[in-house]
Amino acid sequence: MEYCKEQLKCVWVHGPIIVGAGPSGLAVAACLSHHGIPYVILERSHCITSLWQHRTYDRLKLHLPKHFCELPLMGFPPNFPKYPSKDQFISYTQSYASRFSIHPRFNQTVHTAEFDQSSEIWVVKTPDFQYISPWLVVATGENAEPVFPSIPGIDKFRGPILHTSVYKSASQFKNQKVLVIGCGNSGMEISLDLSRHNAFPHMVARNTVHVLPREMFGFSTFGIAMALLKWIPIKLVDKLLLVVARFMLGNTDRYGVRRPKTGPLELKLVTGKTPVLDVGQVAQIKAGNIKVMEGVKEITRNGAKFLDGQEKEFDAIILATGYKSNVPTWLKSCESFTKEGMPKREFPKGWKGENGLYTVGFTRRGLLGTASDAVKIAKDIADQWITVKDKSYCNSHIVLLRS
Ligand SMILES: Cc1cc2nc3c(=O)[nH]c(=O)nc-3n(C[C@H](O)[C@H](O)[C@H](O)COP(=O)(O)OP(=O)(O)OC[C@H]3O[C@@H](n4cnc5c(N)ncnc54)[C@H](O)[C@@H]3O)c2cc1C
Repeated sequence: MEYCKEQLKCVWVHGPIIVGAGPSGLAVAACLSHHGIPYVILERSHCITSLWQHRTYDRLKLHLPKHFCELPLMGFPPNFPKYPSKDQFISYTQSYASRFSIHPRFNQTVHTAEFDQSSEIWVVKTPDFQYISPWLVVATGENAEPVFPSIPGIDKFRGPILHTSVYKSASQFKNQKVLVIGCGNSGMEISLDLSRHNAFPHMVARNTVHVLPREMFGFSTFGIAMALLKWIPIKLVDKLLLVVARFMLGNTDRYGVRRPKTGPLELKLVTGKTPVLDVGQVAQIKAGNIKVMEGVKEITRNGAKFLDGQEKEFDAIILATGYKSNVPTWLKSCESFTKEGMPKREFPKGWKGENGLYTVGFTRRGLLGTASDAVKIAKDIADQWITVKDKSYCNSHIVLLRS
């Protein structure tokens, strides 16, 4: 591979290249700074934490208590509530970036990143620049791109169809019949939002899903589960959680929200499927304010036909069909990732790949996984840094080789 063959400005980065300035990229940057290691962050958007700033709904709060969502080296402000709002989380990440003097290079969408075997260096290209470094940290997230399902007839629908990534609030759907396709955390919370704004949500629950109370006996369900797992096997913890969930929420199967056969924690471990944490959705379902529908057979001009034979009219459709990683679109000739864009090595080993490649935030464990990855990555690079520093090519950590 020849560098700078194309008309790109060529930049030698003395330190790792981090792709993505979400919480994961910021966490690695802060930990590297802590070890005195310079880096460059490339971010496609014009701001940090762009998923939270641009692609989340207004009523979003952290699903887990704040102490499970802290980034390394800096906790949440003590005056924040137990479950910070989206705006509070964004302001926390902004303070974090400023505390650790993190200044990403914005509007730098990475189109390709490839390891050059001959010179043992990563070559990372954006539309105008070519960055080179011995280390590449993939921090583009498990939720980089929205997933749009192919449903028969969807192009015929006369009303608006939007993905949850562009949904902000229910105010635009007052008095409307809205079909929400998907019953994960986003689908359920948006259905709740709609039901509280005098809209008429119909939520499609094609797949089975575990709904657990967000808290049990005044403690976070997640916290209880983590504590119990230290003492008793996962299957038993699952049984206990399900007994309490049944006591608090009733039998959700009766309302069309069918539980998987495998318990919630075991399912998360094996498939990565997160249980839905109830913040009022089940009560709305029981009250009939959120109607649960079986799978969609077909979308029609005015609504939808369902698998159980019902046909209904709708004013709008919201696709709560999730997100996917975009790593396969830009990381070339790399054996460390699956075709779905997830590290092949499973947690807790997935953070380190081959040839100076690292991945952060791909553990299916949310911000808790991010923090653990970031600390390990920075430590691993720090261990190599002394050697590289001895061979230092220059004093500055970014060098423009050719413009
Ligand atoms: C609605 C919603 C609610 C959530 N709630 C929680 C919660 O309560 N608790 C929790 O722990 N997790 C939650 N998550 C999971 C969430 O993804 C993580 O908390 C967190 O945002 C992951 O951080 P990240 O940096 O790994 O990924 P992201 O936040 O997705 O950041 C990745 C960054 O990479 C950038 N990027 C992508 N591709 C490129 C490219 N080719 N070139 C350059 N830059 C690129 C993106 O623009 C983005 O800024 C939620 C997710 C969603 C969608």
